[in-house]
Amino acid sequence: MSKRDGDDWKPATKLVRGGTMRSQFGETSEAIFLTSGYAYESAEQAAARMAGDEEGFVYSRYANPTVRMLEDRLALLEGAETCRVTASGMGAISSAMIAPVGAGDRVVAASALFGSCRVICQTILPRYGVETEFVEGANLDAWKKALSKPAKLVLIESPSNPLLEAVDIEAVAKLAHAAGAKLVVDNVFATPVLQRPFDLGADVCVYSATKHMDGQGRVLAGAILGKTDWIEEFIDPWLRHTGPAPSPFNAWVVLKGLETLDLRVRQACRNASQLADAIAGHPNVKAVRYPGRKDHPHHAVHAKQMDDGGTLIAFSVKGERAEAFRILNALQLVDISNNLGDTKSLACHPASTTHRALNEEERASMGLDESWIRLSVGLEDADDLQKDILAALNAM
Ligand SMILES: *Cc1c(COP(=O)(O)O)cnc(C)c1O
Repeated sequence: MSKRDGDDWKPATKLVRGGTMRSQFGETSEAIFLTSGYAYESAEQAAARMAGDEEGFVYSRYANPTVRMLEDRLALLEGAETCRVTASGMGAISSAMIAPVGAGDRVVAASALFGSCRVICQTILPRYGVETEFVEGANLDAWKKALSKPAKLVLIESPSNPLLEAVDIEAVAKLAHAAGAKLVVDNVFATPVLQRPFDLGADVCVYSATKHMDGQGRVLAGAILGKTDWIEEFIDPWLRHTGPAPSPFNAWVVLKGLETLDLRVRQACRNASQLADAIAGHPNVKAVRYPGRKDHPHHAVHAKQMDDGGTLIAFSVKGERAEAFRILNALQLVDISNNLGDTKSLACHPASTTHRALNEEERASMGLDESWIRLSVGLEDADDLQKDILAALNAM
């Protein structure tokens, strides 16, 4: 990979400056190119652009200057050769999972996945002759067994949704490569600020930019990062001809969000760490899962690969659905919402919302029962959040 402007910058600088292209007007804030098409100076130029013989934009389903700035900023930040941005996180992950496989191929995935990712592996890919084997993410022996046979792709999340389990990215990368597979890491929960999958051996990194990257709950977007050869062979034709292109406006919102990503994620981690300790000490709480706490069953793996505890907490209350609902309904400041990675703190009951599509057995295999609440910690003052959550726990 040739050296780019900004490759030697620290992450905070990359987040503010990376990929910026100024127009002839010298604007300081990135311009929004809200255009679907591009005009050519001559018919010859149109022909050359369409043939790919001349650099330049041809249609915003393929590429757009505002979207390109976001792609270049994310590639620089992540240390990836190439990035493609899509209309949503699922646009990115479905493209990364479907475009490179064909009938007869095998996928191996961690069983704890974002709900829609599980549907792609379990329901959609088999229709095209691609089978997925699910593996308990924290169990390296299970990975060894599943990857003793050839595979095309491996998909993991770490920390996983909703119980924040760890998958040892470096170890799974080695096993995936020995099986001939590319390792795809959904790095949404960790964010690029806290965890760098490519340094741990990942081949592809995917994001929902809807979450911390926008970070203010406004737009949907997604990203696929990887080697240029792989993106050009599999992802570009898929994106061009199936069309999950993002709105340039949404790409611009995410560009602006990235400028404060480092600050926001670090402050949310401080808030989350305080709240996890406060929740853990409450008599109505059975268990707390926070990657930054030593009592997390996978603390050692998280600590090895993630810089801080992250912005999400899961906790289990002494009771069932009724008790969990009572706590959610008693919250005054924290909103009930299945979204995450917002400046506003949000809480949900995974078993009845984000993970309702799984049957009880599948939920049990993830250790997810009706007593769990997932909390996405935002940027309100931690003392106000603590007061709100402890009052809700008292109300149970
Ligand atoms: C939200 C999310 C997605 C899907 O992203 P959208 O932008 O909602 O399409 C995928 N993976 C994880 C871990 C997520 O949190």
